[in-house]
Amino acid sequence: MAGKINRQTGNSLYDLLFARYGERRWWPAESPYEVMAGAILTQNTAWTNVEKAIARFEGRLSPQFVLSADAGDLMEIIRPAGFFNRKAGCLKTLTAWYGQYGFAVPSVRAQPVQKIRGELLALRGIGKKTADSILLYAFEFPIFVVDAYTLRLLKRLEDSEEARSYDEAQALFGADLDAALYNNAHALIVENAKTHCRAKPVCEGCPLAGICKTAAKTV
Ligand code: SF4
Repeated sequence: MAGKINRQTGNSLYDLLFARYGERRWWPAESPYEVMAGAILTQNTAWTNVEKAIARFEGRLSPQFVLSADAGDLMEIIRPAGFFNRKAGCLKTLTAWYGQYGFAVPSVRAQPVQKIRGELLALRGIGKKTADSILLYAFEFPIFVVDAYTLRLLKRLEDSEEARSYDEAQALFGADLDAALYNNAHALIVENAKTHCRAKPVCEGCPLAGICKTAAKTV
């Protein structure tokens, strides 16, 4: 592949990954609110620690419980996820925001996505990746979630010294697909990052080898 990847190669990338891995949608959660909580808890920690923290709610994970919980008790519950002091505060702040919409997904969904995104980004402890994860996985707004795997992949596809910015990477996947496709796109990139595009890439057999400048150098 010559030059920088663009929207068109963003589409090819999806097609190639889909042809190899198929449907991989995810966010392992019982409810939209659990997605929101998980998006906070997973910051700077492995998902297994999030699972441990969520299990310690013992079925009580709800906006009402989190808002009314004593801060110290909440910190103790989410301790396995690390940074529990900061995360407990973020969880309460995010939940209070959700309360403005009556803890109702349809009320949030009725708003323009950029309005909700702006409100989330204004909350303490919520950056673009967390905000977009909440928008896509909890509220099913059509938005692409960029993570470290995505940025690493783009850097290698382009064989570039510099990583794309979050916004540039997001733009490569456009804003006109549906939420299910964005959900799957992110899951496919994660799958390939675990199988081939690891910290040390295993280019042989990678479904993206034909459009990857790093692979072209190693073959
Ligand atoms: S070909 Fe290699 S560097 Fe390129 S995406 Fe695949 S594993 Fe990563």
